[in-house]
Amino acid sequence: MRTIYRSEPPWPHRVLILGGGFAGVETARHLEKLTKRRDDIEIWLVSRENFTLFTPLLPEVCSGMLEARHSVTALRAQLKRPSSWAVTAVVERIDLDAKQVTVTGGDGDPHRLNYDTLVIALGGETATFGIKGIPEYTAGMKTLADAFALRNRMIEMLERAELEDDPEERRAQLTFVVGGGGFSGVETAGEIEDFVRRVRKRYYAKIDPEEPRGHIVELGPRLLAEMPEGMGEYAAEKLARRGYTIHTDTAIKEVRVDGVVVGDDNEFIPSKTVIWTGGVRPSPVVRESGIEVDKGGRAVVSGSMETSHPGVWAIGDCALVPKLDQEGAYHAPTAQNAVREAKRLAKNILASIDGRKRDIEPFEYRTIGTLASIGHHTGVGVVFGVRVRGWLAWFMWRGYYWSRVPGIGGKARVGLEWFLNAIFGSDPVQLKVDYPGTAGMGPSGTRRSRPRSTDPRA
Ligand SMILES: Cc1cc2nc3c(=O)[nH]c(=O)nc-3n(C[C@H](O)[C@H](O)[C@H](O)COP(=O)(O)OP(=O)(O)OC[C@H]3O[C@@H](n4cnc5c(N)ncnc54)[C@H](O)[C@@H]3O)c2cc1C
Repeated sequence: MRTIYRSEPPWPHRVLILGGGFAGVETARHLEKLTKRRDDIEIWLVSRENFTLFTPLLPEVCSGMLEARHSVTALRAQLKRPSSWAVTAVVERIDLDAKQVTVTGGDGDPHRLNYDTLVIALGGETATFGIKGIPEYTAGMKTLADAFALRNRMIEMLERAELEDDPEERRAQLTFVVGGGGFSGVETAGEIEDFVRRVRKRYYAKIDPEEPRGHIVELGPRLLAEMPEGMGEYAAEKLARRGYTIHTDTAIKEVRVDGVVVGDDNEFIPSKTVIWTGGVRPSPVVRESGIEVDKGGRAVVSGSMETSHPGVWAIGDCALVPKLDQEGAYHAPTAQNAVREAKRLAKNILASIDGRKRDIEPFEYRTIGTLASIGHHTGVGVVFGVRVRGWLAWFMWRGYYWSRVPGIGGKARVGLEWFLNAIFGSDPVQLKVDYPGTAGMGPSGTRRSRPRSTDPRA
Protein backbone atom coordinates (compact mmCIF):
# COMPACT_ATOMS: atom_id res chain seq x y z
CA MET A 1 0.00 0.00 0.00
CA ARG A 2 1.41 3.37 -1.01
CA THR A 3 0.72 6.77 0.45
CA ILE A 4 0.51 9.26 -2.37
CA TYR A 5 2.02 12.73 -2.12
CA ARG A 6 2.16 15.22 -4.96
CA SER A 7 3.40 18.43 -3.47
CA GLU A 8 6.57 19.04 -1.46
CA PRO A 9 6.73 20.14 2.19
CA PRO A 10 5.56 22.44 3.63
CA TRP A 11 2.39 20.57 2.71
CA PRO A 12 -0.53 22.70 1.61
CA HIS A 13 -3.88 22.16 3.34
CA ARG A 14 -5.42 19.32 1.35
CA VAL A 15 -9.17 19.24 0.74
CA LEU A 16 -10.00 15.72 -0.33
CA ILE A 17 -13.35 15.38 -2.09
CA LEU A 18 -14.84 11.91 -2.49
CA GLY A 19 -17.22 11.56 -5.45
CA GLY A 20 -17.11 13.19 -8.87
CA GLY A 21 -20.86 13.78 -9.29
CA PHE A 22 -22.66 17.12 -9.26
CA ALA A 23 -21.95 17.72 -5.57
CA GLY A 24 -18.25 16.81 -5.55
CA VAL A 25 -17.28 18.55 -8.78
CA GLU A 26 -19.16 21.75 -7.99
CA THR A 27 -17.53 21.89 -4.54
CA ALA A 28 -14.11 21.53 -6.18
CA ARG A 29 -14.89 24.15 -8.81
CA HIS A 30 -16.14 26.71 -6.29
CA LEU A 31 -13.17 26.07 -4.00
CA GLU A 32 -10.84 26.61 -6.95
CA LYS A 33 -12.50 29.94 -7.69
CA LEU A 34 -12.29 31.04 -4.04
CA THR A 35 -8.62 30.06 -3.68
CA LYS A 36 -7.40 31.28 -7.07
CA ARG A 37 -4.56 33.32 -5.62
CA ARG A 38 -3.59 30.95 -2.81
CA ASP A 39 -1.04 28.18 -2.88
CA ASP A 40 -1.62 27.00 0.69
CA ILE A 41 -4.69 24.92 -0.30
CA GLU A 42 -4.86 22.02 -2.74
CA ILE A 43 -7.88 20.10 -3.95
CA TRP A 44 -7.99 16.40 -4.72
CA LEU A 45 -11.08 14.86 -6.21
CA VAL A 46 -11.47 11.07 -6.14
CA SER A 47 -14.09 9.23 -8.13
CA ARG A 48 -14.76 5.78 -9.52
CA GLU A 49 -15.04 7.06 -13.07
CA ASN A 50 -12.93 9.83 -14.59
CA PHE A 51 -16.05 11.77 -15.57
CA THR A 52 -19.18 13.41 -14.23
CA LEU A 53 -22.39 11.86 -15.51
CA PHE A 54 -25.16 14.29 -16.39
CA THR A 55 -27.91 12.06 -15.00
CA PRO A 56 -30.97 14.07 -16.14
CA LEU A 57 -29.98 13.22 -19.72
CA LEU A 58 -29.28 9.52 -19.03
CA PRO A 59 -32.66 8.26 -20.31
CA GLU A 60 -31.88 10.06 -23.59
CA VAL A 61 -28.63 8.09 -23.89
CA CYS A 62 -30.71 4.98 -23.55
CA SER A 63 -33.04 6.04 -26.36
CA GLY A 64 -30.17 7.13 -28.58
CA MET A 65 -31.29 10.78 -28.56
CA LEU A 66 -27.90 11.60 -27.13
CA GLU A 67 -24.49 10.04 -27.68
CA ALA A 68 -23.18 8.54 -24.42
CA ARG A 69 -19.97 10.55 -24.52
CA HIS A 70 -21.97 13.77 -24.64
CA SER A 71 -23.72 13.01 -21.37
CA VAL A 72 -20.42 13.01 -19.49
CA THR A 73 -17.64 15.53 -18.83
CA ALA A 74 -14.08 14.56 -17.89
CA LEU A 75 -13.19 15.45 -14.30
CA ARG A 76 -9.81 16.72 -15.42
CA ALA A 77 -11.49 19.12 -17.82
CA GLN A 78 -13.49 20.61 -14.97
CA LEU A 79 -10.55 21.27 -12.63
CA LYS A 80 -8.50 24.28 -13.67
CA ARG A 81 -5.76 24.81 -11.08
CA PRO A 82 -2.47 22.96 -11.70
CA SER A 83 -2.35 21.88 -8.05
CA SER A 84 -5.80 20.26 -8.25
CA TRP A 85 -5.85 16.56 -8.97
CA ALA A 86 -8.56 14.23 -10.22
CA VAL A 87 -7.89 10.66 -9.09
CA THR A 88 -9.75 7.77 -10.73
CA ALA A 89 -10.12 5.18 -7.98
CA VAL A 90 -12.70 3.42 -5.84
CA VAL A 91 -13.02 4.69 -2.28
CA GLU A 92 -12.83 1.69 0.04
CA ARG A 93 -12.46 3.08 3.55
CA ILE A 94 -12.30 6.31 5.51
CA ASP A 95 -10.11 6.43 8.61
CA LEU A 96 -11.27 9.50 10.51
CA ASP A 97 -8.63 9.25 13.25
CA ALA A 98 -5.69 8.91 10.86
CA LYS A 99 -7.28 11.42 8.42
CA GLN A 100 -6.71 8.95 5.64
CA VAL A 101 -8.80 7.46 2.85
CA THR A 102 -7.95 4.11 1.28
CA VAL A 103 -8.72 3.80 -2.41
CA THR A 104 -8.22 1.13 -5.05
CA GLY A 105 -6.86 2.48 -8.30
CA GLY A 106 -7.17 1.01 -11.77
CA ASP A 107 -3.95 -0.90 -11.04
CA GLY A 108 -5.91 -2.97 -8.50
CA ASP A 109 -3.66 -1.87 -5.64
CA PRO A 110 -4.76 -0.01 -2.51
CA HIS A 111 -3.45 3.53 -2.00
CA ARG A 112 -3.66 5.86 0.99
CA LEU A 113 -4.67 9.46 0.53
CA ASN A 114 -4.12 11.82 3.47
CA TYR A 115 -6.37 14.80 3.99
CA ASP A 116 -6.79 17.86 6.18
CA THR A 117 -10.41 18.50 5.22
CA LEU A 118 -12.70 15.80 3.87
CA VAL A 119 -15.83 16.19 1.75
CA ILE A 120 -18.02 13.12 1.32
CA ALA A 121 -20.08 13.44 -1.88
CA LEU A 122 -20.43 9.78 -2.85
CA GLY A 123 -24.05 10.05 -4.00
CA GLY A 124 -26.26 7.00 -4.09
CA GLU A 125 -26.44 3.61 -5.68
CA THR A 126 -29.37 1.43 -6.71
CA ALA A 127 -31.14 -0.11 -3.69
CA THR A 128 -33.02 -3.38 -4.16
CA PHE A 129 -34.77 -3.57 -0.74
CA GLY A 130 -34.13 -7.30 -0.80
CA ILE A 131 -36.65 -7.89 -3.60
CA LYS A 132 -35.89 -11.26 -5.10
CA GLY A 133 -34.47 -11.22 -8.62
CA ILE A 134 -33.69 -7.50 -8.88
CA PRO A 135 -29.89 -7.87 -8.88
CA GLU A 136 -30.03 -10.78 -11.35
CA TYR A 137 -32.73 -9.75 -13.82
CA THR A 138 -33.18 -5.99 -13.88
CA ALA A 139 -31.35 -3.08 -15.43
CA GLY A 140 -31.01 0.10 -13.37
CA MET A 141 -31.00 3.69 -14.60
CA LYS A 142 -28.22 5.25 -12.60
CA THR A 143 -24.99 4.75 -14.52
CA LEU A 144 -23.79 4.99 -18.09
CA ALA A 145 -23.47 1.20 -18.08
CA ASP A 146 -27.18 0.99 -17.15
CA ALA A 147 -28.17 3.16 -20.11
CA PHE A 148 -26.00 1.11 -22.48
CA ALA A 149 -27.37 -2.15 -21.14
CA LEU A 150 -30.98 -1.06 -21.51
CA ARG A 151 -30.52 0.34 -25.00
CA ASN A 152 -28.83 -2.86 -26.17
CA ARG A 153 -31.52 -4.92 -24.48
CA MET A 154 -34.36 -3.11 -26.23
CA ILE A 155 -32.70 -3.60 -29.61
CA GLU A 156 -31.95 -7.24 -28.81
CA MET A 157 -35.63 -7.81 -27.99
CA LEU A 158 -36.77 -6.22 -31.26
CA GLU A 159 -34.28 -8.34 -33.20
CA ARG A 160 -35.41 -11.55 -31.46
CA ALA A 161 -39.12 -10.74 -31.72
CA GLU A 162 -38.87 -10.50 -35.50
CA LEU A 163 -37.64 -14.10 -35.60
CA GLU A 164 -39.99 -15.47 -32.92
CA ASP A 165 -42.91 -17.75 -33.87
CA ASP A 166 -44.20 -18.46 -30.37
CA PRO A 167 -46.73 -15.67 -29.56
CA GLU A 168 -46.22 -15.96 -25.78
CA GLU A 169 -42.47 -15.63 -26.08
CA ARG A 170 -42.85 -12.75 -28.52
CA ARG A 171 -45.21 -10.98 -26.13
CA ALA A 172 -42.66 -11.23 -23.31
CA GLN A 173 -39.94 -9.94 -25.60
CA LEU A 174 -41.99 -6.88 -26.52
CA THR A 175 -43.16 -6.06 -23.00
CA PHE A 176 -41.10 -3.55 -20.99
CA VAL A 177 -41.68 -3.15 -17.26
CA VAL A 178 -40.44 -0.17 -15.25
CA GLY A 179 -40.35 -0.59 -11.47
CA GLY A 180 -40.71 2.80 -9.75
CA GLY A 181 -42.84 5.72 -10.89
CA GLY A 182 -40.68 8.59 -9.67
CA PHE A 183 -38.70 10.98 -11.87
CA SER A 184 -36.24 8.51 -13.30
CA GLY A 185 -38.87 5.77 -13.76
CA VAL A 186 -41.31 8.01 -15.62
CA GLU A 187 -38.59 9.60 -17.76
CA THR A 188 -37.14 6.18 -18.58
CA ALA A 189 -40.59 4.80 -19.47
CA GLY A 190 -41.18 7.77 -21.78
CA GLU A 191 -37.85 7.30 -23.55
CA ILE A 192 -38.32 3.52 -23.94
CA GLU A 193 -41.66 3.97 -25.66
CA ASP A 194 -40.35 6.80 -27.81
CA PHE A 195 -37.37 4.76 -28.96
CA VAL A 196 -39.20 1.48 -29.57
CA ARG A 197 -41.95 3.23 -31.50
CA ARG A 198 -39.54 5.17 -33.73
CA VAL A 199 -37.21 2.31 -34.63
CA ARG A 200 -40.03 -0.24 -34.99
CA LYS A 201 -41.76 1.92 -37.55
CA ARG A 202 -38.63 2.41 -39.61
CA TYR A 203 -36.64 -0.80 -39.20
CA TYR A 204 -38.82 -3.62 -37.79
CA ALA A 205 -41.74 -3.80 -40.18
CA LYS A 206 -42.67 -7.36 -39.08
CA ILE A 207 -43.61 -6.12 -35.63
CA ASP A 208 -47.15 -4.78 -35.36
CA PRO A 209 -47.47 -1.23 -33.85
CA GLU A 210 -49.78 -2.65 -31.15
CA GLU A 211 -47.34 -5.34 -30.03
CA PRO A 212 -44.83 -3.39 -27.92
CA ARG A 213 -46.39 -2.82 -24.48
CA GLY A 214 -45.22 -1.32 -21.21
CA HIS A 215 -46.01 -1.41 -17.50
CA ILE A 216 -45.06 1.03 -14.75
CA VAL A 217 -45.28 -0.46 -11.27
CA GLU A 218 -45.35 2.10 -8.44
CA LEU A 219 -45.66 1.38 -4.74
CA GLY A 220 -47.23 4.76 -3.94
CA PRO A 221 -50.68 6.03 -4.91
CA ARG A 222 -49.52 8.04 -7.96
CA LEU A 223 -46.69 8.67 -10.39
CA LEU A 224 -44.28 11.56 -9.86
CA ALA A 225 -44.88 11.87 -6.14
CA GLU A 226 -42.14 14.55 -6.11
CA MET A 227 -44.50 16.91 -7.97
CA PRO A 228 -47.82 18.49 -6.98
CA GLU A 229 -50.97 16.45 -7.54
CA GLY A 230 -52.24 16.52 -11.07
CA MET A 231 -48.80 16.23 -12.63
CA GLY A 232 -48.50 12.50 -11.98
CA GLU A 233 -52.02 11.94 -13.26
CA TYR A 234 -51.20 13.84 -16.44
CA ALA A 235 -48.05 11.73 -16.97
CA ALA A 236 -50.03 8.53 -16.30
CA GLU A 237 -52.71 9.49 -18.81
CA LYS A 238 -50.16 10.32 -21.52
CA LEU A 239 -48.18 7.13 -20.94
CA ALA A 240 -51.36 5.00 -20.86
CA ARG A 241 -52.30 6.36 -24.28
CA ARG A 242 -48.93 5.21 -25.55
CA GLY A 243 -49.41 1.63 -24.43
CA TYR A 244 -48.44 1.63 -20.77
CA THR A 245 -50.47 -0.01 -18.04
CA ILE A 246 -49.98 1.94 -14.82
CA HIS A 247 -50.07 -0.07 -11.58
CA THR A 248 -50.15 2.27 -8.56
CA ASP A 249 -50.27 1.10 -4.91
CA THR A 250 -48.58 -2.00 -6.24
CA ALA A 251 -45.41 -3.67 -5.03
CA ILE A 252 -42.98 -5.66 -7.14
CA LYS A 253 -42.75 -8.99 -5.32
CA GLU A 254 -40.24 -10.81 -7.44
CA VAL A 255 -38.43 -10.50 -10.74
CA ARG A 256 -37.81 -13.67 -12.73
CA VAL A 257 -35.93 -14.37 -15.90
CA ASP A 258 -39.20 -14.33 -17.84
CA GLY A 259 -41.29 -11.75 -16.01
CA VAL A 260 -42.35 -9.93 -12.85
CA VAL A 261 -44.69 -10.85 -9.99
CA VAL A 262 -46.61 -7.78 -8.77
CA GLY A 263 -49.31 -6.81 -6.28
CA ASP A 264 -51.17 -8.56 -3.47
CA ASP A 265 -52.73 -11.08 -5.83
CA ASN A 266 -49.32 -12.01 -7.30
CA GLU A 267 -50.14 -11.03 -10.87
CA PHE A 268 -47.47 -12.29 -13.27
CA ILE A 269 -46.42 -9.97 -16.10
CA PRO A 270 -44.39 -11.83 -18.72
CA SER A 271 -41.46 -9.62 -19.73
CA LYS A 272 -37.86 -10.05 -20.77
CA THR A 273 -36.89 -6.49 -19.88
CA VAL A 274 -37.42 -5.10 -16.40
CA ILE A 275 -35.94 -1.77 -15.35
CA TRP A 276 -35.64 -0.98 -11.66
CA THR A 277 -35.63 2.69 -10.65
CA GLY A 278 -37.47 2.19 -7.36
CA GLY A 279 -34.78 3.02 -4.85
CA VAL A 280 -31.43 4.60 -4.13
CA ARG A 281 -29.27 4.22 -1.03
CA PRO A 282 -26.05 5.99 -0.13
CA SER A 283 -22.71 4.35 -0.75
CA PRO A 284 -21.94 1.91 2.14
CA VAL A 285 -18.61 3.71 2.63
CA VAL A 286 -20.57 6.55 4.28
CA ARG A 287 -22.10 4.33 6.94
CA GLU A 288 -18.84 2.48 7.57
CA SER A 289 -16.83 5.70 7.99
CA GLY A 290 -18.00 6.20 11.58
CA ILE A 291 -19.75 9.55 11.09
CA GLU A 292 -23.35 9.78 12.30
CA VAL A 293 -25.81 8.46 9.72
CA ASP A 294 -29.60 8.02 9.66
CA LYS A 295 -31.42 4.68 9.32
CA GLY A 296 -30.98 4.73 5.57
CA GLY A 297 -27.23 5.35 5.83
CA ARG A 298 -27.23 9.03 4.79
CA ALA A 299 -24.78 11.32 6.59
CA VAL A 300 -26.44 13.43 9.27
CA VAL A 301 -25.11 16.98 8.84
CA SER A 302 -25.66 20.39 10.35
CA GLY A 303 -27.20 23.20 8.29
CA SER A 304 -23.66 24.18 7.25
CA MET A 305 -23.15 20.61 6.01
CA GLU A 306 -20.55 19.54 8.60
CA THR A 307 -20.87 15.95 9.80
CA SER A 308 -20.65 14.73 13.39
CA HIS A 309 -16.87 14.65 12.90
CA PRO A 310 -15.27 18.13 12.76
CA GLY A 311 -13.48 18.86 9.48
CA VAL A 312 -15.54 16.24 7.64
CA TRP A 313 -18.37 17.57 5.48
CA ALA A 314 -21.01 15.76 3.44
CA ILE A 315 -23.36 16.91 0.68
CA GLY A 316 -25.52 15.75 -2.20
CA ASP A 317 -27.51 12.54 -2.32
CA CYS A 318 -25.46 10.89 0.45
CA ALA A 319 -26.27 13.60 3.03
CA LEU A 320 -29.34 14.69 4.96
CA VAL A 321 -29.14 18.46 4.65
CA PRO A 322 -31.75 20.06 6.94
CA LYS A 323 -34.14 22.72 5.68
CA LEU A 324 -33.78 25.91 7.68
CA ASP A 325 -37.42 26.93 7.55
CA GLN A 326 -39.02 23.52 8.19
CA GLU A 327 -38.27 21.60 11.36
CA GLY A 328 -37.46 17.96 10.59
CA ALA A 329 -37.48 18.44 6.80
CA TYR A 330 -34.53 17.86 4.49
CA HIS A 331 -33.47 19.03 1.06
CA ALA A 332 -34.44 16.54 -1.65
CA PRO A 333 -31.70 14.46 -3.26
CA THR A 334 -31.62 16.27 -6.60
CA ALA A 335 -28.89 17.57 -8.87
CA GLN A 336 -30.35 21.06 -8.52
CA ASN A 337 -29.87 20.99 -4.74
CA ALA A 338 -26.45 19.32 -4.93
CA VAL A 339 -25.12 22.11 -7.14
CA ARG A 340 -26.46 24.83 -4.82
CA GLU A 341 -25.21 23.07 -1.67
CA ALA A 342 -21.72 22.87 -3.20
CA LYS A 343 -21.49 26.64 -3.59
CA ARG A 344 -22.27 27.23 0.08
CA LEU A 345 -20.07 24.36 1.19
CA ALA A 346 -17.00 25.73 -0.61
CA LYS A 347 -17.42 29.03 1.28
CA ASN A 348 -17.89 27.21 4.59
CA ILE A 349 -14.81 25.05 4.09
CA LEU A 350 -12.66 28.05 3.35
CA ALA A 351 -14.03 29.94 6.34
CA SER A 352 -13.31 26.91 8.52
CA ILE A 353 -9.72 26.56 7.23
CA ASP A 354 -9.10 30.28 7.84
CA GLY A 355 -10.71 30.16 11.30
CA ARG A 356 -13.51 32.58 10.32
CA LYS A 357 -16.27 30.84 12.27
CA ARG A 358 -18.74 33.70 11.77
CA ASP A 359 -18.66 33.14 8.00
CA ILE A 360 -19.77 29.51 8.25
CA GLU A 361 -23.44 29.68 7.29
CA PRO A 362 -26.23 27.16 6.83
CA PHE A 363 -27.41 26.19 3.38
CA GLU A 364 -30.60 27.92 2.35
CA TYR A 365 -32.30 27.48 -0.99
CA ARG A 366 -35.76 27.49 -2.43
CA THR A 367 -36.22 25.22 -5.42
CA ILE A 368 -37.15 27.20 -8.52
CA GLY A 369 -39.08 24.29 -9.89
CA THR A 370 -39.09 20.72 -11.09
CA LEU A 371 -39.52 19.43 -14.61
CA ALA A 372 -39.72 15.95 -16.05
CA SER A 373 -39.70 14.76 -19.64
CA ILE A 374 -42.15 11.96 -20.43
CA GLY A 375 -41.13 11.34 -24.04
CA HIS A 376 -42.89 12.26 -27.29
CA HIS A 377 -41.85 15.91 -26.85
CA THR A 378 -44.04 16.09 -23.75
CA GLY A 379 -43.23 17.06 -20.19
CA VAL A 380 -44.67 18.10 -16.85
CA GLY A 381 -43.46 20.43 -14.17
CA VAL A 382 -43.80 23.35 -11.83
CA VAL A 383 -41.71 26.48 -12.33
CA PHE A 384 -41.89 29.37 -9.85
CA GLY A 385 -45.11 27.82 -8.56
CA VAL A 386 -46.74 27.73 -12.00
CA ARG A 387 -47.74 24.33 -13.38
CA VAL A 388 -46.64 23.60 -16.92
CA ARG A 389 -47.26 20.56 -19.08
CA GLY A 390 -47.18 19.27 -22.63
CA TRP A 391 -44.75 20.56 -25.22
CA LEU A 392 -43.94 23.74 -23.27
CA ALA A 393 -42.84 21.75 -20.21
CA TRP A 394 -40.71 19.48 -22.39
CA PHE A 395 -39.14 22.48 -24.12
CA MET A 396 -38.39 24.14 -20.78
CA TRP A 397 -36.96 20.86 -19.48
CA ARG A 398 -34.62 20.58 -22.45
CA GLY A 399 -33.68 24.23 -22.34
CA TYR A 400 -32.88 24.13 -18.63
CA TYR A 401 -30.73 21.01 -18.79
CA TRP A 402 -29.03 22.18 -21.95
CA SER A 403 -28.07 25.37 -20.12
CA ARG A 404 -26.56 23.23 -17.32
CA VAL A 405 -24.37 21.10 -19.62
CA PRO A 406 -20.79 22.06 -18.69
CA GLY A 407 -18.79 24.17 -21.15
CA ILE A 408 -19.55 25.77 -24.50
CA GLY A 409 -18.19 22.69 -26.30
CA GLY A 410 -20.51 20.43 -24.30
CA LYS A 411 -23.53 22.61 -25.04
CA ALA A 412 -22.65 22.74 -28.75
CA ARG A 413 -22.35 18.95 -28.98
CA VAL A 414 -25.62 18.28 -27.17
CA GLY A 415 -27.52 20.97 -29.11
CA LEU A 416 -26.19 19.79 -32.46
CA GLU A 417 -26.98 16.19 -31.70
CA TRP A 418 -30.56 16.97 -30.71
CA PHE A 419 -30.92 18.93 -33.94
CA LEU A 420 -29.48 16.12 -36.11
CA ASN A 421 -31.58 13.50 -34.34
CA ALA A 422 -34.72 15.54 -34.93
CA ILE A 423 -33.95 15.48 -38.66
CA PHE A 424 -32.50 12.01 -39.21
CA GLY A 425 -33.97 10.03 -36.28
CA SER A 426 -32.38 7.24 -34.23
CA ASP A 427 -30.90 4.03 -35.56
CA PRO A 428 -31.04 0.59 -33.95
CA VAL A 429 -27.28 0.00 -33.64
CA GLN A 430 -26.64 -2.50 -30.88
CA LEU A 431 -23.20 -1.71 -29.47
CA LYS A 432 -21.99 -5.19 -28.60
CA VAL A 433 -18.69 -4.56 -26.89
CA ASP A 434 -18.50 -7.58 -24.60
CA TYR A 435 -16.91 -9.96 -27.06
CA PRO A 436 -13.43 -11.51 -26.74
CA GLY A 437 -10.78 -9.84 -28.86
CA THR A 438 -10.09 -6.64 -26.98
CA ALA A 439 -6.49 -7.74 -26.42
CA GLY A 440 -7.20 -8.63 -22.79
CA MET A 441 -8.13 -5.04 -22.00
CA GLY A 442 -11.84 -5.59 -21.62
CA PRO A 443 -14.59 -3.43 -23.12
CA SER A 444 -13.79 -0.48 -20.84
CA GLY A 445 -10.00 -0.80 -21.12
CA THR A 446 -9.59 -1.66 -17.45
CA ARG A 447 -9.00 -5.39 -17.35
CA ARG A 448 -5.51 -6.43 -16.32
CA SER A 449 -4.15 -9.83 -17.25
CA ARG A 450 -2.64 -10.53 -13.83
CA PRO A 451 -3.30 -8.81 -10.48
CA ARG A 452 -0.24 -7.24 -8.85
CA SER A 453 0.57 -8.27 -5.31
CA THR A 454 -0.14 -5.82 -2.52
CA ASP A 455 1.93 -5.31 0.60
CA PRO A 456 0.01 -6.91 3.49
CA ARG A 457 2.07 -4.97 6.09
CA ALA A 458 1.06 -1.56 4.79
C1 LIG B 1 -32.04 8.82 -14.41
C2 LIG B 1 -31.93 9.98 -13.46
C3 LIG B 1 -32.53 11.20 -13.77
C4 LIG B 1 -32.42 12.27 -12.90
N1 LIG B 1 -33.00 13.45 -13.24
C5 LIG B 1 -32.85 14.51 -12.43
C6 LIG B 1 -33.41 15.76 -12.80
O1 LIG B 1 -34.04 15.89 -13.84
N2 LIG B 1 -33.23 16.82 -11.96
C7 LIG B 1 -32.50 16.72 -10.78
O2 LIG B 1 -32.32 17.73 -10.08
N3 LIG B 1 -32.00 15.53 -10.39
C8 LIG B 1 -32.14 14.44 -11.19
N4 LIG B 1 -31.62 13.23 -10.81
C9 LIG B 1 -30.97 13.12 -9.48
C10 LIG B 1 -29.51 13.56 -9.56
O3 LIG B 1 -28.84 12.79 -10.51
C11 LIG B 1 -28.82 13.39 -8.22
O4 LIG B 1 -29.55 14.05 -7.22
C12 LIG B 1 -27.40 13.96 -8.28
O5 LIG B 1 -26.66 13.21 -9.21
C13 LIG B 1 -26.73 13.91 -6.92
O6 LIG B 1 -25.41 14.32 -7.05
P1 LIG B 1 -24.27 13.69 -6.13
O7 LIG B 1 -23.00 14.33 -6.56
O8 LIG B 1 -24.68 13.78 -4.72
O9 LIG B 1 -24.26 12.14 -6.49
P2 LIG B 1 -23.87 11.42 -7.82
O10 LIG B 1 -24.20 12.25 -8.99
O11 LIG B 1 -24.46 10.06 -7.71
O12 LIG B 1 -22.28 11.32 -7.75
C14 LIG B 1 -21.60 10.48 -6.87
C15 LIG B 1 -20.26 10.16 -7.46
O13 LIG B 1 -19.52 9.40 -6.53
C16 LIG B 1 -18.93 8.30 -7.20
N5 LIG B 1 -18.78 7.22 -6.24
C17 LIG B 1 -19.75 6.58 -5.54
N6 LIG B 1 -19.21 5.63 -4.75
C18 LIG B 1 -17.88 5.68 -4.97
C19 LIG B 1 -16.78 4.96 -4.43
N7 LIG B 1 -16.91 4.02 -3.51
N8 LIG B 1 -15.55 5.29 -4.89
C20 LIG B 1 -15.36 6.26 -5.80
N9 LIG B 1 -16.36 6.97 -6.33
C21 LIG B 1 -17.61 6.68 -5.92
C22 LIG B 1 -19.91 7.95 -8.31
O14 LIG B 1 -19.27 7.23 -9.33
C23 LIG B 1 -20.34 9.36 -8.75
O15 LIG B 1 -19.46 9.88 -9.69
C24 LIG B 1 -31.72 12.13 -11.66
C25 LIG B 1 -31.12 10.91 -11.35
C26 LIG B 1 -31.22 9.83 -12.22
C27 LIG B 1 -30.58 8.53 -11.87
